[in-house]
Amino acid sequence: MKYPPEPFRIKTIEAITRTTDWERLAIIQDAGFNVFNIPAEKIYIDLLTDSGTSAMSDNQWAGMMLGDESYAGSKNYFHFEKMIHKIFGFKYVIPTHQGRVAENLLFSTILKDKPGLVIPNNNHFDTTRANVEYNGGIATDLVVDIAKDTQVLDNFKGNIDLKKLTALIEEVGAERIPIGMLTITNNSGGGQPVSMENIRGTSELLHKHGIPFFIDACRFAENAYFIKTREPGYRDKSIMDIANEMFSYADGCTMSAKKDGLVNMGGFFATNNEELAQQITNRLILIEGFPTYGGLAGRDLEAIARGLEEVLHEDYLAYRISQVEELGDRLIDAGVPILRPAGGHAIYLDAKGFLPHIPQSQFPGIALTVALYTHAGIRAVEIGSLMFAHKDPITGEVQYPDLELVRLAIPRRVYTNSQMQYVAENIIEIYETRTAIRGYDIEYEAAVLRHFTARLKPRS
Ligand SMILES: *Cc1c(COP(=O)(O)O)cnc(C)c1O
Repeated sequence: MKYPPEPFRIKTIEAITRTTDWERLAIIQDAGFNVFNIPAEKIYIDLLTDSGTSAMSDNQWAGMMLGDESYAGSKNYFHFEKMIHKIFGFKYVIPTHQGRVAENLLFSTILKDKPGLVIPNNNHFDTTRANVEYNGGIATDLVVDIAKDTQVLDNFKGNIDLKKLTALIEEVGAERIPIGMLTITNNSGGGQPVSMENIRGTSELLHKHGIPFFIDACRFAENAYFIKTREPGYRDKSIMDIANEMFSYADGCTMSAKKDGLVNMGGFFATNNEELAQQITNRLILIEGFPTYGGLAGRDLEAIARGLEEVLHEDYLAYRISQVEELGDRLIDAGVPILRPAGGHAIYLDAKGFLPHIPQSQFPGIALTVALYTHAGIRAVEIGSLMFAHKDPITGEVQYPDLELVRLAIPRRVYTNSQMQYVAENIIEIYETRTAIRGYDIEYEAAVLRHFTARLKPRS
């Protein structure tokens, strides 16, 4: 079956309300035409992010009732640790309340007092880059060149370019590269997977130069499923075996459990390096809490332990990946321009191709997010000029990003396939009447991270 159905049934529901066209017009005006400013209750289908938006299972909720809220040595920590040993295989397991805290602990430890160190990655996620740069490091993206072409089809567009990595090591010297990383799947690169061959090759190359290798593991199960279905030699392996192999090549990982942990809050850092684990544990106590809870309640640790077990189920992953793919296929069939192939967790609309009559200076991605909301109550996020365009510090000229994307991130186990069909049909309707959509001007912007709080107005 090309698009397998949901491998669960619904036991409890959360009502969502459909606003009228007139209500949405008033709401978007109040929001300054920025969907971040809309109260979530006024959204019909919320595709803003797949982070922390998963639906938990009855098994996870039942586990939460077994929360052991002891300050030290909670039984849920031991279950959490055991699951991480089983899947990731790393010896030292340090819970944190989000992925970015794991990143903060790692980079504030390894980059401390040594400015100018370089961290290579396929693509740094924005919190990863921010944690590297805030601690004085240089975050370098070395993804394969084909990743930059939205229309080239390839199985593993998330791979790091090993030639670029070799050149970087030669150029800056291994002693200035404290660790190398891979982000699986490559979130900033369209949710594209990384092959086992590339993970193994990265590990060998880094280790040859004495550089430790860490994985940003947020979507490790989705990546493992892509390896199973796309990479020769893995079809008959279980997701657990594939995950074990992926992490066997690494010295540690950072993880946001808000993605493939199938929970609403949580994360961890794990490594085999005893000295690093010790240093990070000492910092953890300062900023998050005792090492057996690290900013989380016992019940949260239990929900993560159970989520990590459930996310490996192959029928879940087959449904998950194909739900995203089916949305992509419906749009491609109708001629709607999207980044191809479909990512593991999101579909990215190509706003430049969608609205060629709107120049980048008038925010085509914003125009599209506004149309999605006013037409159908769908919330997506612009990843384009509002997020990334900036003035060149020397010439003062505005530099625009290569791509104007609108990301439709699909929460895990939340929306039914008929709701996804609603999304596809409405995007197609918008596409058919796209010439009527106008560009936007900024009315208010903050100095940094302006996309979260900017207010805009449509051009007349
Ligand atoms: C979400 C994410 C993070 C950060 O995790 P938070 O839990 O949001 O702090 C880091 N890396 C990647 C690839 C992510 O998707």
